[in-house]
Amino acid sequence: MSSPTVTYLADYRAPEFLIEKTHLTFELHEGYTDVSSQLTLVRNPQGTQAAHLVLHGEQLELLALAIDERTLNAEDYQTTPLNLTVYNVPERFVLHCKTRIYPEKNTALEGLYRSGGMYCTQCEAEGFRKITYYLDRPDVMSEFETVIIAQAGTFSTMLSNGNCVSDTVRDGNRIVHWHDPFKKPSYLFALVAGNLACLEDHFTTQSGRQVLLQIYTEAKDQDKCHFAMQSLKKAMRWDEQTYGREYDLDRFMIVAVDDFNMGAMENKGLNIFNTACVLAHPASTTDAAFQRVEGVIAHEYFHNWSGNRVTCRDWFQLSLKEGLTVYRDSEFSADMNSRAVKRIEDANLIRSVQFVEDAGPMAHPVRPDSYMEISNFYTVTIYEKGAEVVRMLANILGPEQYRRATDLYFSRFDGQAVTCDDFVQCMEEVSGKDLQQFRLWYSQAGTPHLQISDSFDADRQQYSLTIRQHTPATPGQTEKKALHIPFKTALYGDKGALPLTINGQNKGTETTLDICQDQQTIVFEQVTEAPAPSLLRSFSAPVKIFYDYQLPQLQRLILLDSDGFCRWDAMQSLMRIVLCNAIDGKDNHTEQTVLIEAIRQLLASHSTMDAALLASMLSLPNEQYLASLYAKADPVAISQARTQLQNQLAAELQTELLHCYQILQDQAQGLSAPAMAARSLRNAALAYLLQLDNAHYRSLAQQQFAQADNMTNQFSALRALVHAEHAHAIAQEALQAFYQQWQHETLVVNMWFQVQATRPWGNVLQEVQNLLHHKAFDARNPNKLRAVIAAFANQNFARFHDKSGKAYQFLAEQIADIDQRNPQIASRLLTPLTHWHQFTDTHATLMRTALESLTQHELSKDMYEVVSKSLS
Ligand SMILES: [Zn+2]
Repeated sequence: MSSPTVTYLADYRAPEFLIEKTHLTFELHEGYTDVSSQLTLVRNPQGTQAAHLVLHGEQLELLALAIDERTLNAEDYQTTPLNLTVYNVPERFVLHCKTRIYPEKNTALEGLYRSGGMYCTQCEAEGFRKITYYLDRPDVMSEFETVIIAQAGTFSTMLSNGNCVSDTVRDGNRIVHWHDPFKKPSYLFALVAGNLACLEDHFTTQSGRQVLLQIYTEAKDQDKCHFAMQSLKKAMRWDEQTYGREYDLDRFMIVAVDDFNMGAMENKGLNIFNTACVLAHPASTTDAAFQRVEGVIAHEYFHNWSGNRVTCRDWFQLSLKEGLTVYRDSEFSADMNSRAVKRIEDANLIRSVQFVEDAGPMAHPVRPDSYMEISNFYTVTIYEKGAEVVRMLANILGPEQYRRATDLYFSRFDGQAVTCDDFVQCMEEVSGKDLQQFRLWYSQAGTPHLQISDSFDADRQQYSLTIRQHTPATPGQTEKKALHIPFKTALYGDKGALPLTINGQNKGTETTLDICQDQQTIVFEQVTEAPAPSLLRSFSAPVKIFYDYQLPQLQRLILLDSDGFCRWDAMQSLMRIVLCNAIDGKDNHTEQTVLIEAIRQLLASHSTMDAALLASMLSLPNEQYLASLYAKADPVAISQARTQLQNQLAAELQTELLHCYQILQDQAQGLSAPAMAARSLRNAALAYLLQLDNAHYRSLAQQQFAQADNMTNQFSALRALVHAEHAHAIAQEALQAFYQQWQHETLVVNMWFQVQATRPWGNVLQEVQNLLHHKAFDARNPNKLRAVIAAFANQNFARFHDKSGKAYQFLAEQIADIDQRNPQIASRLLTPLTHWHQFTDTHATLMRTALESLTQHELSKDMYEVVSKSLS
C-alpha cells in the first residue's frame, strides 16, 4: 500500500484567489456530459501573492481553457490527476474552462452521476472537483448561475440551486437557467435532471413571504411524500419560533434518489435525499422510519442557516455545522415526540457507538487535527458528540442567553466561512462566562471517565459525592487535561426527590454541578436519609460514569426518578449487572430476582407511564455496549448471556407481557404519538413472548402479521417470527408472503433483506451470501449494501462474531470488491473489523487477519486510511 498525503489543520492557509461569480453550463448527452464554466476570479488580499492559480479537479477531460478572451496554450498550464495549474495569472480575470465527464460510469456516487434514469449530484465534501476544475474548498464562496441543456423532451425536471430564471426550448434543446443569489461554497452545488413527479405546497414565513415547497420523486412514489411535506412545514415553523430563522429563497425543493451514499444533503434550496429518508406511507413504513423522515427533513432544512448561510472555513470544522444542526434536529424531534425517549436514543447511540469509536484506532476530537480522506470523518464523534458539545453550551448558558448567542452568531457571520472557535466566542461574549476550559471538548479526543464515590453522615445530615475525572489516551494524544463537565444531579429518598442544599444555598431538587478539576467533592447538607444519587441527568455530558449502585438504589430510581433518561439508565445498570454476572460466571440469583420484580412492577404500571419509555426500558443493553465494558470481550459469551436473559425474562413475565400486549391493542391504532408508543410496547412484549417455545404466542404473531394494517405491526411480527428459534417453518412462510406482497417496494424489500441478515441464530452467513445473489439485490446500491452486509456486520453480533472467523473474512472480501466501485461505502462497512482490539485474543487475531488480507489489494484513499490506522 502506498500512503496518500495527510492534511493538517495547522497547515490551513487562506485561499490565494476568490471566485466572485461562477457560471456553469451543463450539456447532458447520452453517455457523457460537457461542463463549461466561467469563473470570475480575483486575487485574495489575504493570500501570499502566488503567481499561479491552482485548481482542484479529478477524473476530468479538459476540452478547452481560456483566460478572458485568450485561449491558453500547452505551456500556459499543467494538469495532474488532482490539479490544474494556470501559470502567471492576472489580479482579476475570467477563466473559461470546458470539461467532459461520464456520469453513467460514476459508481462512486460522488460528483455528477446517474441513478436509474435520473442525473443527480453529491458534492460534499470534495465531489465538485469531479464536475469541473474549481477552488473546491468551503472557504471559497461564490454566486452561482447554472444552465442545464438537454434534448427537448428528454427530461421533465431540470433543477439546480436557487430560483429559476428561465425555461426555454431552442433548436430542439430545452434550456433551463437557475440563479442562486446567496454566495455558497461548491460543496452545496446541486443539479438534478429526470422525469419526476412533484408534490407542491406553500409556506408563509413569519415576515409574510410565500415560499413554494416541492418534493420530487418517481411518479409511483408520489403518494408517499405527504408526511415529508408536513414535516418540512413543521420544521420551518419551529426554526422561526425557536431560533428566529426564516427561509430566504422563493422555493425550497427536495428530490428523492435511490442510489445515495448518505441519508440526505442540504444543497442550497435543492436538498437531495436518499429515498429511505423521505418516502413514508403507513402501509409500507414503520413508525421508527416515520420519525427518521421527520428528523432528517428537519436536519437538512435547518442547515439552510447552520451550514449554508454560515458555513465551515475548512473541513476540520465540520462539526461547526453538523454538531449544531444535529443538536437542532434533536430538540425538534424531542418537541414533536417523546422527549425522554429521544434523549435515551441519543445517549444510547453515543454509548454504544461513539464511545467505541473513542476507544479504537479512528478516535479523533470533535475538531480533528488531520485526515487523509475527509469522507472518513463523517462520524458519530463529529455529528453526535459534536451535538452533545453544543447541548452542553446551551445548558451552561440557559435558554435566553443561548438564543441571544446564536442570534449573534448567525448575524455576525452571515455569508462567511468560519470556525468552531468563532461559535464558542459568541457564546462567551453573550454570557460573559469563561469558556476557555470548555473549548477542550473540541480539541481533546476520547471519552472522559468519571469515578464517583459517596458517603452519608446521618448525624451531620451530610451527603458527599466525590468525582474524579480521567480521559484515557487516544492515538496521538497521550496527555489529557481535565474538562469542564456540566453534571446534572438529584438525590432520591424513599418517597421521591430530596431538596438540595449546597453551601447553605437551596438548589431545588435538581442541580448542575460544574466539574472542572481532576477531583472534586460536593457536600449536600440537610440530607435526612441515605439517598440514591440520580447522576448525569438527561445525559448532561457525553461521559462514562462509574458508581457502584446498590440494588435498592437502582430499584428506587427505576420507579421514582422523574428524569426519563435516568430511569432507563437505572434499568440498564440493573440489566448490565445481571448480564455481567452471567458472563463472568458469578452467582446471580438475587440480582435476577430484583430485575424480574422491577420489570413486573413497571409492566403493572403501564397505564400511568409513557408507553414508549416503558418499551425502551424493556430492551436489554446491546452487545456492542456490553463488549465495551471489558478489556477483552468474549463475543460468544456476551451473546449467550443476553439470549439466556431474554428467555428467562420472557418465561418469568409472560403473564404480564401477554396482558400488556392484549390490553393495548385498541390504543395502538393510527399515527398519533400515543398510538406509536402503544405499538412499540406491544411489539416489545411480542418479541419477548416469541422467545418461548409456545404455539399460542406464535399464532399471535402470525395473526398480527396477517391482519396488520400498518407496517410497524406487520414488520414487528415478521421480525419476531424470523428471530425466534422455535418458529422456523412459520417464519419461512411469512418471509415468502412478505416478499410477494412488497416486491415492488424497494425500501420494504430492504427491510426484508435486513430482517434475514440480522437473525441471531443458524447459518446466517450462508444465507447472507445467498441474498447477495437474490434478483432484488443490487451491489451498486448503497441501501442494499446497508440492508444486507452492514446489517449483518453491525447488527448481528452473535453471528458476525462466530468463532470460525468466516464472517470476518467474508466482510473483508466484500469490502475489497466494493472499494473498487464506491470507496466511501466500502470504508464505512469496514468499521466492525476496526474494533478487533476489544475482543479476546482468538477473535482479535481472526479480525486482524481479515484486515491484513485487505492490504493485498489496491486500496482507495478512504480505505487506506482506515486499514492502516487500524493495523498500526
Ligand atoms: Zn448535516
